[in-house]
Amino acid sequence: MNNTLETDVLIIGGGPGGAAAAMFLLRQGITPVILEGEDFPRFHIGESLTGESAQVLRRLGLEDEMVRREYPIKHGVKVYGSTAVNSWYVKVSSRDADWNLYDNITWQVRRSDFDEMMQKEAIKRGAKLMKGTATKAMREEDGAVTGVQVRWPDGSHGEIRAKVTLDCSGQATFLANQKVTGPKYVGSYDKQVAFFTHVKGAIRDTGTSGPDAKDNTLILYHHKFHWAWFIPVDKETVSVGMVTPRADFLAKKQTPEEFFRSDIYSINPELKRRLPTLEFSEKVHVVPNYSYQVRGFTGKGFICIGDSHRFIDPIFSFGVTVTMREAELAAPLIRSFLDGKLDDHENPFREHEIACEKGIDNLEDMIDLFWEQPFAFATFVHSRYTEEMTDAFAGRIYESEHQPSNAIMAFRKLLKRTRTYDDDIYSVPIGSRYHPERAPLWEPESPVETTEAWIKKGSGVEKNGEAVHAS
Ligand SMILES: Cc1cc2nc3c(=O)[nH]c(=O)nc-3n(C[C@H](O)[C@H](O)[C@H](O)COP(=O)(O)OP(=O)(O)OC[C@H]3O[C@@H](n4cnc5c(N)ncnc54)[C@H](O)[C@@H]3O)c2cc1C
Repeated sequence: MNNTLETDVLIIGGGPGGAAAAMFLLRQGITPVILEGEDFPRFHIGESLTGESAQVLRRLGLEDEMVRREYPIKHGVKVYGSTAVNSWYVKVSSRDADWNLYDNITWQVRRSDFDEMMQKEAIKRGAKLMKGTATKAMREEDGAVTGVQVRWPDGSHGEIRAKVTLDCSGQATFLANQKVTGPKYVGSYDKQVAFFTHVKGAIRDTGTSGPDAKDNTLILYHHKFHWAWFIPVDKETVSVGMVTPRADFLAKKQTPEEFFRSDIYSINPELKRRLPTLEFSEKVHVVPNYSYQVRGFTGKGFICIGDSHRFIDPIFSFGVTVTMREAELAAPLIRSFLDGKLDDHENPFREHEIACEKGIDNLEDMIDLFWEQPFAFATFVHSRYTEEMTDAFAGRIYESEHQPSNAIMAFRKLLKRTRTYDDDIYSVPIGSRYHPERAPLWEPESPVETTEAWIKKGSGVEKNGEAVHAS
């Protein structure tokens, strides 16, 4: 193995964020190196795509491939109230060049298959994939990132030097753990734990479009912060997950699978109806501590993309959208930077960081309002801000997409929240579920860092716990 390699752009992580980044960079005439530690295909959570995820895939010329793979078609999201008597629905939509709204579809994906397809496509188009794990960020005296040290699969070590390093490492948050970025804060949503698996024999709707389309995403509400999802991932298989308060799991001292089996039926009567049996085709995976925010996630020589700097809550399936869209936004900036057209003083990517923060802040306001005031939220969806809500659910969250909309501004009012970006771009409002004064700093060495350690320490299921981190 050649021990030192040089490239213009290094991408750490070959998931959808890294693969999309590679494809958008190639369009800018940049041939990146992707460094990926895992063998693909590998299991990953994050199976429901929003309308804007589908638009990114269309812009990447991948629509035909998505159709060829017969991924289930998602027309919208249906949310059931706790007794399942009431539900509300948001359709998938897009905007045309004149900003007219039209109905559209997106896809549900089995991530092992989708991620492998994305990675292969990036390689086919010219990206160079290297199997290995980034172990240490290399920096100059002024803090600029110049690449990473790598552990190759044969155990030897090397270096990849790069003018720009893109952190697409997902929840592993490589550059944050290396303390290259600002601090990482634990969000309040970390009090929940997600348990999920794939189930055969689940009962779907039978429609071909609209609220009763057979492969829509279903969200099943139980109590505040306690819910389940139902996402068809192929003709026979449905991804079923439940998000529960951490304390409930710890109190029961069960393995993740025992806990899943014992609790899934009590979440919502509609979910119970749809799961006549519990035939798993995947083990029960667990992800705790998924909510965090990293400050200062761009700087000299680096940009963090998607989950590698922020994740709030999986309720409305925004993860893949955010990571692919941030990759798309970053690519032309990297081109300008390499061409010497960006001001290189403090941080050439500061404007990008602000744009990304503003986008995710809009999502945070939406998610917070859903949890804090679900009835007001449902009213907004139904009648008051129908178009604006359709935009937000589709993942049109950036300033160039008319955000924050009247709906988001109304959420902020109800949440008693003001967002400012003048002096400190991290406008953390009073009342936010994420707040540095309340949220503890993430300690990379802490035992909650890995799912396995957390399960072992917290639940007493050391021997039987089959927990696997979803990164
Ligand atoms: C419970 C739950 C449910 C979710 N549901 C949805 C959903 O329905 N829809 C949705 O869009 N999103 C969902 N998400 C979010 C989604 O999983 C992520 O946002 C998405 O996978 C991020 O993609 P990524 O490419 O940035 O990171 P990842 O997909 O995590 O990829 C990161 C890659 O980096 C590699 N890597 C990490 N560290 C290193 C290293 N040091 N060296 C080399 N390689 C490294 C990893 O092996 C991995 O392949 C959910 C998240 C959770 C927790």
